[in-house]
Parts: sequence; C-alpha cells; structure tokens
Amino acid sequence: MTSAKILIVEDEPAIQELLAFNVMRAGFQAVCAEDADSMWRQIQGQTPDLILLDWMLPGASGVVLARQLRSDARTGDIPIIMLTARSEESDKILGLESGADDYITKPFSPRELMARIRAVLRRHIPQMPDETVAAGSLELSPASHRVTANGRAIELGPTEFRLLHFFMTHAERVYSRTQLLDQVWGTQVFVEERTVDVHIRRLRVALEPFEMDGLVQTVRGSGYRFSVS
Ligand code: CA
Repeated sequence: MTSAKILIVEDEPAIQELLAFNVMRAGFQAVCAEDADSMWRQIQGQTPDLILLDWMLPGASGVVLARQLRSDARTGDIPIIMLTARSEESDKILGLESGADDYITKPFSPRELMARIRAVLRRHIPQMPDETVAAGSLELSPASHRVTANGRAIELGPTEFRLLHFFMTHAERVYSRTQLLDQVWGTQVFVEERTVDVHIRRLRVALEPFEMDGLVQTVRGSGYRFSVS
C-alpha cells in the first residue's frame, strides 16, 4: 500500500516546512500549497488523501476553501483538518460547519497533529459493506457513494454520509452522542460531543429540500433517533 498523500495548505513558510517535515517523518507523502490557486493546481495534479488547511490564508480563507472543496464533486470526499490560531468555540463550530472533519489549534504538538491525521484517515478507510441500504424513499449506496431520495441525488459530506448510513441501518433506536461518536467517528478520535450536533445539523440541512429532515429526530436528554415510521 502506498502511503497517504497529505496536501498542506499553509502560507507561512516556516509552518509549512514544519508540517511537511512531520508528515514525511510519520511516513506520509507531503505536497504543499501556499494559497488557493496553488491548492487547486495540486489537487488537479493528483487527489490528496487528506488536506491540512490553514484558516488564515491570503485571499480566500480556509473556511471559504473548505466550503468550495466540499461542494465540488471531485473533492467533496477528501477529509480536511483545519489549522488555526483561533481557539474560540464559535470559530471551531464555524470551521466544522464549513466542512472540516477536524480542527487543530496552533501551536500544536506534532504528536497530536499526527494522531489526528491518522484518526481522520482511519475514519475514511471504507469499512461499510457495499450493499445498498434503503429506508422509506431514501437509498444509500456505499459502493457508488451516492444517496438518493425518490431517485434524486442528495449531496452529503463524508461524515454525514457515514452518519446517515449508520442511522439507516439502525433505525428506530435512540443513540447518545457518545454512542454515535464511537459508531460513526470511531473510538480513537479526539472529537467533542458537540461535533455530533454540527454534523446532525448538516445532515438535516441536506435532507431538508426533500422534506426528510424530520427523519433525524432529537430525543431530549438522550440523543438522536432515525425514524421512518
Ligand atoms: Ca496562515
């Protein structure tokens, strides 16, 4: 197996170099970009397995770029870890809502960064069976990575896709945030319970145009339930 290719998007040369050094030392391939244009050029050359995306970039910010990456079919599945000097909770939520899979605040320890990269890559290793699953008029195909509602395609980010797959295969039961984290994100991941709420919100927003957002139900004090009944 070839090592995963990490695209580092960071405009400060010293930090870019430090990131590349640690990524390569951990056995991954590193490619670098210093702004949006060079990021898109790199992606056109070869799709990376993960993007480390700095929040503060010249021109388009990391948040804007994360949204663009997510909304493009060719890049929508690439995991993103946002790098930022901001530690405000609201910024964190904004970063996740823009499409990042995880978030790390500068200054970070190389050890923590590598643990997060490994965790996010592990999450994206397909572990789902290939069988298409259906619930009501929703159909989800892990093999083609497509979700349809009454035959119309629904665009979902990778986390929402896994979350919906879990819900569709575990309908009518209530799961706590912690249980969802374990089942969907994996047990070795450093994410907070609030992350679940962010992705639930994104899943509902994606289902809303099909009037299916009500399938994902909040169970007060307990967690969430997917119900088609
Ligand atoms: Ca920067």
